[in-house]
Amino acid sequence: PAVSDLFRSAAEAGPHDILKLYNPKGNIINICPGLEPNSPASCYRLEVVAADCNSEPLGAELAGALGFNLSSMEKRLQGLEKKVLFAAGETPAVVLEMKKQVDWFREKLESVEHLSWLGFYKDLSEGPHQPSPFYHKRSLHKTREEVERVREKVLQMSSLEVSEELRQNLKTPTFDNWQWEDAEIMVLLQVMFTDLDFISSFNIEPEALQHFLFEVYRRYNNIPFHNFKHCFCVTQMMYGLIWLTDLRNKLEDIDLLIMMTSAVCHDLDHTGYNNAYQINARTELALRYNDISPLENHHCAVAFQILQRRESNIFRNLSSDQYKRIREGIIKCILATDMTRHNEILNKFKSVLPAFDFTNKEHKDLLMMILIKVSDISNEARPMEVAEPWLDCLLQEFFNQSDVEKLEGLPVSPFMDRDKVTKPSSQIGFIRFVLLPLFMELANLFPCLEQHIIDPVRKALDYYTEMDKALGRQQPKTAARTRPEPSKPETS
Ligand SMILES: [Zn+2]
Repeated sequence: PAVSDLFRSAAEAGPHDILKLYNPKGNIINICPGLEPNSPASCYRLEVVAADCNSEPLGAELAGALGFNLSSMEKRLQGLEKKVLFAAGETPAVVLEMKKQVDWFREKLESVEHLSWLGFYKDLSEGPHQPSPFYHKRSLHKTREEVERVREKVLQMSSLEVSEELRQNLKTPTFDNWQWEDAEIMVLLQVMFTDLDFISSFNIEPEALQHFLFEVYRRYNNIPFHNFKHCFCVTQMMYGLIWLTDLRNKLEDIDLLIMMTSAVCHDLDHTGYNNAYQINARTELALRYNDISPLENHHCAVAFQILQRRESNIFRNLSSDQYKRIREGIIKCILATDMTRHNEILNKFKSVLPAFDFTNKEHKDLLMMILIKVSDISNEARPMEVAEPWLDCLLQEFFNQSDVEKLEGLPVSPFMDRDKVTKPSSQIGFIRFVLLPLFMELANLFPCLEQHIIDPVRKALDYYTEMDKALGRQQPKTAARTRPEPSKPETS
């Protein structure tokens, strides 16, 4: 048995908590068999840091640990309410009271400061030492208040206020996401679904769309990069590509609906740690999905959890055949965003390109996967003032992961290591070996895209090449800067 297990049980730490051991001088030391014995005069200090950030909705997990399944209770209550409503014609006060209690309990669970399964009992924030890398401990999941505030704002706005100019602007890759707050973004997403005629073609009820978007918003976490604004950018780029390439006249409406919905859902409940981390740290997700695209599988599963509830099911008026086709399509698209499958998908697409046929299902599927891949990593195709802050966000998330990996003794990906990566070094290889080759294949099929997405990416490459030279002149001795491996590109 590992020494760390002994420490773990002595500290009553949960399976996902991180143990940190300090020597009398206050330095972190390794928990290993070679530890010097200590004495009352030279105490080691043991600290438990909650690290279970890979869990399902917090409420469900904590509740599960307490032998209390909140969502099943909610479901039973809903069923009960329906029955009573049917029999009595109105919801009795006692049911309303119970609903309030369930809400109260959910809120309590969701606002628990620590994600430890002991979070209810043990205040881990005690003590003078506040670990900095664990920024997500308090704020990973959105709080109910946060969501409610945004919900109120959206309800005050009406999509009618969106000007024609903005509607047109929304169809171009030059759109600036940083000018819009989350409530406005939600309205813009509604506009996209409306202007593609999804509302009428698929009989999507406005309340269902609104509910759906709220749930999506709620299930994107407060992390630097893979957050709700990233969801918006990817969806907006997809939307732009649809208009620029006149896809409405080349694919069926249902294919467009699949692509847009996939884009909206493609990073749901991302916790800011990539698949390599999930697998190396043997997280809950890696276990559940046997190391096979754990994150993408999870994003997709969360999407269908949202669609499972009637009030947020935008597909509720579709036939079961249509639903089946949409489900298959969304799964295919979201799973295609795992960058470890990049070469596989790109090579297949290349092989069908010479005789591309928009009515061939295999060809169409590949095109849809390529489109979501392009949208997902399209930041550098945006104007520099939009793109560059995104790179800062991405590096922040990467550095956080590598910090945690170092603390936990896990392998550190070189392209995430703050000691090895600079802004330009992170982008140059990525643009050359991943972005441009991908974008150029899409532009082979749609030559009009050249000016819209290839030219800006080339400009970005020049920009970062210049920045790299400038940095080299500044610190000629830091030769340790390494380029990211092209096979392990940046985002998903
Ligand atoms: Zn993404």
